Amino acid sequence: MSSRLDLHVHTTASDGRWSPARVVHEALARNLRYLAITDHETTQGAVEAMALARDTSLEVIPGVEISVGSSEEEIDLLGYFVDPAHPDLLRFLKGMQAERTERIRAMAERLAQLGMPVPWERVLELATGDVLGRSHLARAMVEQGYVADEAEAFRRWLGRGCPAYIPRRPIDPHEVLAVIRAAGGVAALAHPGRSGLPRNLESLWRAGLVGLEVFHPDHSPADVARLIAIARIYNLIPTGGSDFHGPGPDGRILLGTMPVPEHTVERLRERCPR
Ligand SMILES: [Zn+2]
Repeated sequence: MSSRLDLHVHTTASDGRWSPARVVHEALARNLRYLAITDHETTQGAVEAMALARDTSLEVIPGVEISVGSSEEEIDLLGYFVDPAHPDLLRFLKGMQAERTERIRAMAERLAQLGMPVPWERVLELATGDVLGRSHLARAMVEQGYVADEAEAFRRWLGRGCPAYIPRRPIDPHEVLAVIRAAGGVAALAHPGRSGLPRNLESLWRAGLVGLEVFHPDHSPADVARLIAIARIYNLIPTGGSDFHGPGPDGRILLGTMPVPEHTVERLRERCPR
């Protein structure tokens, strides 16, 4: 089943390979009706995409993905229908961007100690948006010839528990839920099939979590069935998207290929605080 929406999409504003313009162009070519731009810790790509899609058949939903993982547990929250210019949200994201930069720089230092220096200027250049990520470091490592591809960089050096890995400072997910709400949006838990259900799901639900990402390329049919059952128990809206970061290694473009029901968008919109 093909669907006419994608609720999980990255652009060059964070670690995606395609600009907001290219993503919007492709979404229109695929006849999508809704596109949520959910860059990591920035709404800049969403702002650009919204402007580009104005007066087209495509509605761009302003979103954001915020990582609140600790070393034990990785939780990513997706915000939908946030006001991309809300001052509380922007202040919060700026703080997170600064921490990300510090962390990536520290990881680059680790790589140098391990005999794999990467030029910091080049890492910054590879990140065209406001947000630095491990994948920018991975791309620089590929350029230097230390690894064959990004996947190898993560598997051997940058992934959790690997020699150059430095964990994030843990952030209270309740704080993130409050910021998303303050910005007029609703929150969903991202790819729980990949990261596992958080131990505090019950408390996140009490704090206003409204959605659970059920449809995701990393989820097996068994994951989907299990997550649909969990969404029913907690009365969470099943959401989904391709987690698009650009074409895959095989050249496939997954944008808009997850079977997400179209009414999901209205269900999320209805739950936004007024
Ligand atoms: Zn994502």
